[in-house]
Amino acid sequence: MTSPKKVAILGGGPAGLCTHFVGRHLDVHRLLFEASNSFGGNCSTLVKDEYRFDTGAHRLHDKDKAVTELAKNLLGEDLQRVAAPSQICWNGNFTDFPLSPLNLLKSLGWKDFVLACIQVMSSRMKPADVSNFEAFAIHQYGKIVAKRFLLDYSEKLWGAKTSQLSTMVAGSRLKGLDLRTFLVESLRGRLKKTEHLDGAFFYPRKGIGQLFDRMVEELPTQELKPNSRVSQIHHDGTQILHVTINGVDDHEVDEVVSSLPLGVLVNSLNPPAPQHVLESASRIRFRHVFLVMFCLDMKSVNGNASMYFPSKDDPFTRVYEPRNRSRYMAPKGKTSLAVEVPMETPSLGAKDAADLIAEVEHKLTTYGFFKSSDVIARHTHMLANAYPVLTVDHQRHAEVVLSFLKNFRNLYITGRNGLVQYSHIHDHMRNAMTWLETRES
Ligand SMILES: Cc1cc2nc3c(=O)[nH]c(=O)nc-3n(C[C@H](O)[C@H](O)[C@H](O)COP(=O)(O)OP(=O)(O)OC[C@H]3O[C@@H](n4cnc5c(N)ncnc54)[C@H](O)[C@@H]3O)c2cc1C
Repeated sequence: MTSPKKVAILGGGPAGLCTHFVGRHLDVHRLLFEASNSFGGNCSTLVKDEYRFDTGAHRLHDKDKAVTELAKNLLGEDLQRVAAPSQICWNGNFTDFPLSPLNLLKSLGWKDFVLACIQVMSSRMKPADVSNFEAFAIHQYGKIVAKRFLLDYSEKLWGAKTSQLSTMVAGSRLKGLDLRTFLVESLRGRLKKTEHLDGAFFYPRKGIGQLFDRMVEELPTQELKPNSRVSQIHHDGTQILHVTINGVDDHEVDEVVSSLPLGVLVNSLNPPAPQHVLESASRIRFRHVFLVMFCLDMKSVNGNASMYFPSKDDPFTRVYEPRNRSRYMAPKGKTSLAVEVPMETPSLGAKDAADLIAEVEHKLTTYGFFKSSDVIARHTHMLANAYPVLTVDHQRHAEVVLSFLKNFRNLYITGRNGLVQYSHIHDHMRNAMTWLETRES
């Protein structure tokens, strides 16, 4: 009798956990190695006394039927459909998000609005320039709108000049501002209030981390290895043979699924990857997010799911009020705010952290969200490797590395930083399902 295949899953964030979870019925010997002491990666819920905060403003997008069904089966009534709007806050003034012409009119005033309309129409008569995000945004929306709502915001978020960013950073954020909508709504007013609101999504009662906590509950404990950093990945040029954990424990493998950041994976290889591959891996940058959390002694700040801050005067890009996603995120009669500050490095000295918290608090109190006397507690959390920076040449570098890794016939790559994509929970679950289908076929 042959012994079951040994499958190693590297990284216990959403991508690794989803893979482990969908493969739970396979007749294989599986181990999931996670460097930290918990699972869920950058998609977890932090518990601070009676308050709960997600590691960033998360929601489950209803984009993939099978994934939504799976989440419903796991969470039952704990998965709620939430309808809450999002808004853009420019120096304390709110505009609905996604943008619509009527909101633009309110935000820009008549003079700039008319100028913006002329800019949009004249720029759309020229051929589209898709060589970089800045050219694309100006072509699509004209200079005034692009600068006010897209370019400064994107530079803060990605930490790169918009002329160096790929058009991929636009994602689906710009839907609802196509030329037809722009003209129709300008003439007839917004057709249907809910049509463009980024408002409906699924959300677990106890925070996004509940989804991954449920997966962990369903999996045999002995298969999940926290505090297990993958330090070396040994291969013969065509196959991964074994992995070393924490520099000491060796595990033989027949198959590997890696959700590690691409650079971490490639730098762990033994023998080392060729120089040009290592060079490309080193050119792929990741952005980090410093989360500042305020527990507040007040009922509510406002009704928004998320608030976006495009102005460079604000050090943060997004603020969210967890209670507006689920009332279980804050104790009865109280609320909280979490603030996302994008960072170049994942470490911050105590003094810099204290200064940043004070600056964030000053801004939010100036905008009238709360008073300092309302703050019960302040907390922080660093999200390392929150997302890959999608520059115009990142894809070329990622392709060099990924095509080298195709040499390993027993290696499957997944994850946001593994595939160097701006991907979401449903993408990781879909990749996990694809992995299962591929190995079963
Ligand atoms: C601020 C923010 C908001 C977001 N909002 C949404 C949203 O609304 N909806 C949505 O669907 N998605 C959202 N996302 C995206 C989602 O969080 C990511 O897609 C997801 O966390 C990526 O999962 P992952 O497993 O690929 O990577 P990660 O979550 O980064 O997990 C990787 C894991 O690998 C581990 N690891 C790293 N190195 C090693 C090693 N050497 N050995 C072992 N383990 C290692 C890490 O500790 C980590 O646990 C958001 C992300 C952020 C940052």
